[in-house]
Amino acid sequence: MQWRGGNESNDVEEGSSRGGGRGMLFGGGALGLIGVVIYLFTGINPSQLFNGGSGNNSQQINTVPGGGTESENKKFARVIFQGTTVVWDSLFRTMGQTYTHPVLHLYTDAVDAEGCGYTTSATGPFYCPADQKVYLDLSFFDELEQKFSAPGEAAWAYVIAHEVGHHIQNLLGVSAKMDQARQSMSETAYNKLSVKLELQADFYAGVWAHYENLSHHNNIVIERADIDSALNAAHQIGDDRLQQKYQGRVSPDSFTHGTSAQRMYWFRKGYDTGDIRQGDTFANNELDDQ
Ligand SMILES: [Zn+2]
Repeated sequence: MQWRGGNESNDVEEGSSRGGGRGMLFGGGALGLIGVVIYLFTGINPSQLFNGGSGNNSQQINTVPGGGTESENKKFARVIFQGTTVVWDSLFRTMGQTYTHPVLHLYTDAVDAEGCGYTTSATGPFYCPADQKVYLDLSFFDELEQKFSAPGEAAWAYVIAHEVGHHIQNLLGVSAKMDQARQSMSETAYNKLSVKLELQADFYAGVWAHYENLSHHNNIVIERADIDSALNAAHQIGDDRLQQKYQGRVSPDSFTHGTSAQRMYWFRKGYDTGDIRQGDTFANNELDDQ
């Protein structure tokens, strides 16, 4: 993947939170308690991934992600983020709309997100609709390789493009519909909707890759091997695979992000078509049938 000639986004800020904050609210699965939705990259909290294993499972990975320097990885994130902005600026213009730029908020260990509360990096990357920011601890790039077996810069880019995909949903009103639907649904029913939302974010990530491949926006060049690397990431973080790997069993009712096959399918569909009208993962109108 080539990206070094690209401009770095100016829509980037940095800031971390020290101390406990409101962390007690965030026990496993308790995210919904505060009534603010944040959109994650996977359905499994990466901090749980060492649980259930044996041996030195409390070890922390403190190395610089991907073996690069911290500043290199920051630069990478800023360039990719700018790449998504250029593509979505253009696509929104095509739709006769204006793309409100999201902000990329880089942090280390923990952050007090304006609209989504105190969150630790164990949660993984997420998008907060209330403040329209993508929150990313760059150490997640390392976790992708170490814990999720998804190495490569294209896998990192996929993470960023997926979270930006949630921003697209926010701008297009999908997130608001989801939040509304959530009020009157069982957890199982909501999980099903969540899967559709997450698959659509994967689709949008694929759409972004399509236009990078086509036009090398912001001097980013995505090659065939990069698509394979992104698809591998999509495979590795499928709900079924993660549950099998870390819980030893698969329970479809608790899927929130989709299976490996679904995540690969929708990323690839976005990549192949580049047509945002084909990203209707909600085709059965579940959102309108509430
Ligand atoms: Zn997501």
